[in-house]
Amino acid sequence: EAITVAELANRMAERTADLVKSLFKMGTPVTSNQVIDQDTAELLVSEFGHNIRRVSESDVDIVTEVDVDEDETLQPRAPVVTIMGHVDHGKTSLLDALRGTDVVAGEAGGITQHIGAYMVTQKDGSQITFLDTPGHEAFSAMRARGADVTDIVVIVVAGDDGIRPQTIEAINHTKAANKPMIVAINKMDKPGSNAQKVREALLQYDVQVEAMGGEVQDVEVSATSKLNLDELIEKIQLQAEILELTANPDRPAEGVVVEAQLDKGRGPVATVLVRRGTLKTGDIFVVGPESGKVRALVDDKGKQIKSAGPSVPVEILGISGVPSAADQLTVVENEARAREVAAYRASVIQQKRTTSAPASLESMFSALRDKQSQQFPVVVKADAQGSVEAIVSSLQKIGNDDIQVRILSSGAGGITESDVSLAAASKAPIIGFNVRANAKAREIATRDGVALKYYDVIYDLLDDIRAAMAGQLGPEF
Ligand code: GDP
Repeated sequence: EAITVAELANRMAERTADLVKSLFKMGTPVTSNQVIDQDTAELLVSEFGHNIRRVSESDVDIVTEVDVDEDETLQPRAPVVTIMGHVDHGKTSLLDALRGTDVVAGEAGGITQHIGAYMVTQKDGSQITFLDTPGHEAFSAMRARGADVTDIVVIVVAGDDGIRPQTIEAINHTKAANKPMIVAINKMDKPGSNAQKVREALLQYDVQVEAMGGEVQDVEVSATSKLNLDELIEKIQLQAEILELTANPDRPAEGVVVEAQLDKGRGPVATVLVRRGTLKTGDIFVVGPESGKVRALVDDKGKQIKSAGPSVPVEILGISGVPSAADQLTVVENEARAREVAAYRASVIQQKRTTSAPASLESMFSALRDKQSQQFPVVVKADAQGSVEAIVSSLQKIGNDDIQVRILSSGAGGITESDVSLAAASKAPIIGFNVRANAKAREIATRDGVALKYYDVIYDLLDDIRAAMAGQLGPEF
């Protein structure tokens, strides 16, 4: 009935550190050799997207099937793309323009529905899914909650405005997430636009496009005059091919909530991006703390559909309540099971509200204990560019073969919300040298459990990081 965390991890083929991290977030701090009860084990199993098989009604022994899809069940799936960039550089316009390249939209006669994501089908039949919420906040928030759905990031830079603060943030977020990026140099219809200048400026941020001898694809576009949209699509497809994106469509569905709300006429609705399996009407599911039975599936063209496979965004009706973005949807075998898991998840959420723990440091340490993790991510902010450079170069020197500091972003100025969201998504601490966090940033840091560390002596800073890397610091770091 009881199982150690390590044994459970082993059976699920997951990393022990990830289970410890999850348990910590649920308010159950344990070490890998500690025994957990059956309820907790079951919850973890479904949290990690695995199935539980009851040997028999009376048999309390729960067998967790190693739920990795066999190679031969995998089939190609459409890439999921997020668009990021500075405000007013044309993210929304580009999303609209790309949507217009869909070949089936017209014939379906449907009205465009904004459900949080949409899928375009090209003439050759290939498809691309775009997340319809531009910007890095949504991207990081999803990632911070473990719902890393994006495959490729398109960074939009207005050719007449160049690299701006949010462009840099977008680049940092993309790199921190290890996602391939494609640079779309937009507004090329404007006489003042200069694409070459953008390509050169990108070098400063370690983004080398192909024309500059690098590997990042770039394309000059105009959302307004629809210039080179087909070329942008082609580059996305090319990148997707390199990634060899696949999923098993023939299994109970799992997905992630992209957005959800209470609709006056229809009740709770949620847009789910299917990650694997096929979601069908009539399916019984758990989504976050809610559960339900799929009453209807509505696609991004407002059309009712019967099923949705991998990478397909679909609105679902028939949920008990409104889930949150990034909640995981899992199809289960029956309603009793759905209610059971949903109730347990709800209680965990309730618990989390009352005991909000600084998750980031614990996960940081558990990540450190894990041999697979060889990076110690940090965000660095300092009062002057000179100190930033000094700190960054010293930090880069303190690693060894086992672990290295990874600078997610660095810059001069106070600590802002966007620094915190970047740090949260990568479970990294923020180092402030002679600078502090603003009120909003502090608030988010507390909420998301991001550690803010202030220093005015570089030596102390390096000492702390060295110690943290050696796993010697207590949880108060
Ligand atoms: P966002 O804030 O990044 O989503 O940017 P928007 O899509 O809202 O665009 C900001 C402004 O730039 C709007 O007035 C758009 O009409 C304009 N815009 C966007 N793309 C282009 C383009 O390719 N050419 C021109 N001339 N204007 C554009």
